[in-house]
Amino acid sequence: SIRDNYECNIAYYTEKMKQKQMQDRLLENRFESAIKNKEFVAYFQPKYDVKTERITGAESLVRWINPDGSMVMPGDFIPLYEKDGLIVKLDEYIFRYVCEFQRELMKKGQELIPISVNLSRTSIHHSDIVERYMKIVEENGIPFSCVPVELTETATLNNVMIRDFTEKLVNAGFALHMDDFGSGYSSLITLSELPFNTLKIDKSLVDCIHQQKGRMVVQQVIILAHGLGMKVVAEGVETADQLELLKEMECDNIQGFYYSRPLPKAEFVKKSEEN
Ligand code: C2E
Ligand code: MG
Ligand code: MG
Ligand code: MG
Repeated sequence: SIRDNYECNIAYYTEKMKQKQMQDRLLENRFESAIKNKEFVAYFQPKYDVKTERITGAESLVRWINPDGSMVMPGDFIPLYEKDGLIVKLDEYIFRYVCEFQRELMKKGQELIPISVNLSRTSIHHSDIVERYMKIVEENGIPFSCVPVELTETATLNNVMIRDFTEKLVNAGFALHMDDFGSGYSSLITLSELPFNTLKIDKSLVDCIHQQKGRMVVQQVIILAHGLGMKVVAEGVETADQLELLKEMECDNIQGFYYSRPLPKAEFVKKSEEN
C-alpha cells in the first residue's frame, strides 16, 4: 500500500542519513591521526600559458591517501571540514606542504613557478591566519610570490572582514586568485574592490563556450578581468575546441584535463622539468 511504501521510504532515508552521519564522525575522528601520519598530500595540476603552451604555474589540490593506498578526494571531506572547522588546520597543513616543496625545488636550483593553495572561507574568520602563513613562508626562505592564494568568489561575498583580510595578504606579498568565478554568487563589484590579481573562470562557464551565448559570457568576463588589470585562468578545459576558443578570446592561462590532470609530486616534477 501507499502507506507501507511511505514508511519504507522513511526507513530508507533515515538509514541513509545515519550512514552519512557515521561516515562523517569517522572522517572527523580520523583527522588528527591522518595529519600526524602525513596521510594528506597535495597533488599538483599545471596551468599552461595559452600562447607558449608551457607550464606557468600550478594549483595544489589535497588528497587523502589511506594506509591501504586508497585515495579519498577532497569532495568527500572538505565540505564536512568546512562545517566543523577542521579545514583551517588542513589548509595550513597543505600550505606548509607546498612551501616545503617549493623550498626543496629552490635548493635543487630549479626556477620556481607559482603553486597556488586553496584557502577556505572558514579560515578568513581566524584573525591570525595571515601572520601564520607569512611565518611559514619566511621559515622556508621562499618568495611570497611563489605561493598564490585562491579564494572562492562566495568567500568574498558581502563581508567587511574580507577586505582587511585580502589587503593583508596582498600587502604581505601574496598573489590573490579569485576561484570558481561564475559558479555561484558572482558579485561584479567585489572584482573591482578587492585586490585579486587573477580570475579563475569556473568549469561550468567553460563548459558553455561551444554555445554562442555561453561564449559571449566568457568573452565578456575575460574583457572585464583584463580591463580591471587581472590575468585570466580558464578551469576545467577538457578539449582542443575549448582551448582554441579560449585562445581566440585571449584567455591567459589554461588549467584542465586537456593538458594535465592533478599529478603526484614526482610526476609533477618530471613534467615541469620537461617544460
Ligand atoms: P578547485 O579549487 O576549483 O579545484 C579545481 C578542481 O577541478 C579540482 O578538483 C580539479 O581536479 C578539477 N579539475 C581540473 N581540471 C578539470 C577538468 O578538465 N575536468 C574536470 N572534470 N575537473 C577538473 P578536486 O581536486 O577534486 O578538488 C575539488 C575542490 O576541493 C577544489 O576545487 C577546492 O574547492 C577543494 N580543495 C581541494 N584542495 C583543497 C585544499 O587544500 N583546501 C581547500 N580549502 N579546498 C581544497
Ligand atoms: Mg582552486
Ligand atoms: Mg576552481
Ligand atoms: Mg571548484
